[in-house]
Formats: sequence, C-alpha cells, structure tokens
Amino acid sequence: MSLLLWLLALLLSGDKAKEIPAIAISGVSTQEMVVALTFDACATKLQANGFDQQIFDILKREKIPVTIFMTGTWAEMHPGAVKQIAAADWVEIGNHSYSHARLTLLQPDRLRVQIRYTDRILQERLGRPALSLRPPAGAWNRAVVRAANREGLPLILWTVVSGDAGGHIPAARIEHIVLAEAKPGAIIIFHINKRAPFTKHALPGIIAGLRDKGFRFVTVSQLLALPDAVPIKAQSSRLGYRHIQPPKPKTDTDGAPPTSSPEARPSGDAAPPPAQSEKGAGDANPPG
Ligand SMILES: [Zn+2]
Repeated sequence: MSLLLWLLALLLSGDKAKEIPAIAISGVSTQEMVVALTFDACATKLQANGFDQQIFDILKREKIPVTIFMTGTWAEMHPGAVKQIAAADWVEIGNHSYSHARLTLLQPDRLRVQIRYTDRILQERLGRPALSLRPPAGAWNRAVVRAANREGLPLILWTVVSGDAGGHIPAARIEHIVLAEAKPGAIIIFHINKRAPFTKHALPGIIAGLRDKGFRFVTVSQLLALPDAVPIKAQSSRLGYRHIQPPKPKTDTDGAPPTSSPEARPSGDAAPPPAQSEKGAGDANPPG
C-alpha cells in the first residue's frame, strides 16, 4: 500500500514538473474573469527600499489574494514585514532573485545561486516556498527560463504594467491604466517596496473597478492552475537590459543578450554597481 502511494506521489510529482510551462509567462488565456495582482518587493544589497504598510493593509482588508515577489536581500532587510507576510495566508510568495541582478547577464552557476539562495531564504523566513520567479527588470532569455524551471518555478512576467514604480504617474492615471488594460488571465504588476508612492491611493479604485467589471482575484499559481488556462509567452525583454547593453542593430527574438558579451560577468550575487541597482530596484523604467 505504501509503495503504491509512493508510486502515485512520484507520478503526480512528475506530472507537476512537466506542467511548468517552458516559456516566460506574461499571463494566461482563459474564459474565467480573473486577474492576478502582483507586488514586487525589490531591494539590492546597496538599496534596502522599504515596505508599504498601507498597501498591505488595503489588500488585507479587502481580502485580495496576491503574489509578492521578494528579493532575498529585501527579505533579509525587512524582518518585520516578512513576519506579517508570513502570517498572511492570502499572500503567495514569489522569488525575485537575491540581489535584483540582471539574470540574463549571469553565468549558469551564478544564476542558479540567485534563485536557489533566495528560495532558501524565503522558505526559512516565511515558512512556505516561492511558487514562481519574476526576473528583475523583466530581463529574461532562454537560459533564465530553463534555470527557473529547473528549480521547479515558472518564470512570471506581466500583462499590465501599472506604472506605479518611481512615483511618476499619479494615482488616477494608474487606476485608469489598470482598469483599461485588465482582461481575463492578466497579471498586473505593482510595487510594495516604498518606491511607488501612489499605489496605495490607486488601489481602492482599482479593486472596486475590477470587481465592478466582474473580475475576481487569484494568485499567480491559481491563475496557472485554472482548468482552461493557456500560458501566454511574454514579449522579448529588451527593457530588461537596454540600460546596460550597448545598442545593437539586431534584437534576438528571445531577448537574449549575446553570451559572448563582455558585460556577461559572473558577478551577479556580488553587489551590483549603484547605477544598475538604482535602475533595477523598483524605479519607473523598467518595471519589475
Ligand atoms: Zn524588481
């Protein structure tokens, strides 16, 4: 009997592993009126950022299941927030790398460390595992997809950019963008690391507006698990590295920087240069 159960578990786990879509996912196609609100908690070793308590309180009050993508550094630097998130069973955990590194620039071993080390930190501090990976700044290529999948994580981008990061867009505009662009199966990106000052003002209207349109809220893993969900491949990630790659005449369809690039240094878990971390840790452009 126990052998049967074990075999069954093995079969199920095998199926589950196969179910991870081997693409960068921007959302899903579905008939269900659902959207996934996601919040990035970006930090680097040099830039702690913060925790927007008001956003968290709104989501808690409204009982919205959400996914929060945390960098390992953010989880280390904000133990109080992590404690609250750990106690919030409506929050799904996402891995956002350790140091907000541009994953496309890393050698395979450094890439693996960025994902695995963060998985371990999140599991230890939150008591549950990350269920997906969002690449910092949305920078992805085939190697990043493979690395995430190998750790059992789907690679998650977004359908709708709220534009909240950096505080350049007023709350009314954020609300308008999200309500105009939300569609069934959409993943919507916000920030909860205090780099998005207007999100808390936009959220009540967004939540009410989406509910009025008939949407309900799900986490990323719930979205992917919908019976009729077909994952949609994200666009190539030019945004993810354009600030640090020299302009090129031609763009790979997969958004992959050349592997022979001199920029592809294996230093991803070291503190990134300040300019890069400023750009990547939750500012307006790029998102993520
Ligand atoms: Zn980020």
